[in-house]
Amino acid sequence: MASQADCKGRLFVISGPSGVGKGTVVAEVLKRLPNLKRAVTYTTRKPRQGEEQGKDYHFVTREEFERLKEQGAFLEWAEVYGNFYGSPRDEVEQILSSGHDAVLVLDVQGALAVKRQIPEAVLIFLKPPSLEELRRRLEARGTDPPEVIERRLAKAQWEMEQASEFDHIVLNDRLEDAVEELVKLIEKGG
Ligand code: ADP
Repeated sequence: MASQADCKGRLFVISGPSGVGKGTVVAEVLKRLPNLKRAVTYTTRKPRQGEEQGKDYHFVTREEFERLKEQGAFLEWAEVYGNFYGSPRDEVEQILSSGHDAVLVLDVQGALAVKRQIPEAVLIFLKPPSLEELRRRLEARGTDPPEVIERRLAKAQWEMEQASEFDHIVLNDRLEDAVEELVKLIEKGG
């Protein structure tokens, strides 16, 4: 990717353990910041109920994902428990060069990989009040069977240890407070 100095907007990466509330918080932040556009991740996983093609993810087949990967379409990509995820290089560049700020919602390893490629990216770690509360949220979301929840929680321990690598840590206790803090952070440019 071209140096971010060529682009007008800034790239924000929102990350944190599964179930902390990334999708929920970012949806609210996008409503408040018309200059901020979401670059949508590609995935080979199946859509969950209520998820929209092109909005939550670009849902693609394994073959399409491979083709995009070969074309160099991803800033970073990873396989997570048998599903592939990739961050769209073009979409990020288009958003930034049109003068908007871009936001990517990524897991922790993806966020750190983007930072290695684009050091100017502003990495924000969304932190749960506790691992118990993270468990409650994963259970309340109702999208995962118990063994998947356990796997996500085990991974969350490592993910929490990476928080110090991020530019900012935002606590998602009360949703409204987390949204407000993120809006302010993005408005002042990270
Ligand atoms: P992620 O995108 O990080 O995996 P989600 O946005 O799917 O997380 O949120 C996980 C669950 O937690 C959802 O059911 C969501 O409604 C809930 N949630 C998100 N933020 C909060 C919050 N601040 N307080 C309580 N529940 C929350």
